[in-house]
Amino acid sequence: MFENLYVPDNIKNTLSLSVENNKISHAYLFCGKDEKTVAAAAEEFAKAVLCKNAHKPCNECSSCKKSDFGSNPDIIKIFPQGASISIKQIKQDLIKTIKMLPYESDKKIYIVYNADTMQKPAQNSLLKTLEEANNYAIIILCAASKNSFYPTILSRCQTYDFTEYVQNEKVADIVFKTLECAARDDYEALMEGCHVLSEENFSDVLMQISSALRDIMAYSLSKNKNIIINKAKTDKIIRMSEIYNTDKLKKTVDYIYDIRINASANRKLIIESIFLYLGI
Ligand SMILES: [Zn+2]
Repeated sequence: MFENLYVPDNIKNTLSLSVENNKISHAYLFCGKDEKTVAAAAEEFAKAVLCKNAHKPCNECSSCKKSDFGSNPDIIKIFPQGASISIKQIKQDLIKTIKMLPYESDKKIYIVYNADTMQKPAQNSLLKTLEEANNYAIIILCAASKNSFYPTILSRCQTYDFTEYVQNEKVADIVFKTLECAARDDYEALMEGCHVLSEENFSDVLMQISSALRDIMAYSLSKNKNIIINKAKTDKIIRMSEIYNTDKLKKTVDYIYDIRINASANRKLIIESIFLYLGI
């Protein structure tokens, strides 16, 4: 689950386990500044919960296919009408239908997008529903942050905050993918990776490249996995330690150090030059 999403590993693992063991809560709050990732994670989670096969989501069963097409009758999506999710929407789209049994699955899932736009009346109305949970309905609230919710709502939801991890893990993922492209001389993918990185925070990007190169170099010299900082990338680091030459890695790290002192030029060109410099 969440294979193509920048979701923090701890959230990925917890939610995957809960789906595998069928230990699903009645209400979730997914929050994070990256609205698209939060929404995509809610949709993928809903798809996995409803999937009919053992490996969830299988992407092949009729339920998964309907989820992908946005036509799964057991996934009900509620978007703000105008600036906010109104009490009228909560009453009509959620409270009125939540007592009806699911159509095709044994669960039905409500995804409330931009749920932090709910004003007090809408939140109060939702709270009553959260307090009277049934055993087949699941509500996922998507929001930029949890600060707009009343504590009574928060106490009823399992909350997953994507914010603090998403940014750095996203940068790490792209850096490692781009390093792999450089290792196999796939210049087209390498340039694409550099382009994506040039839009992220520049000092985070340089820091992450240095840390990745440091890990490859350290493993290459010691053959000791415990020395690796980017633990989640251990397999990639081991693979790349067999390809990259340690002298070249060391020179590239020095090169990045010089750039950091003197970074006024075009950032995309700088990032490209690092990966090209590393070329084997
Ligand atoms: Zn499936």
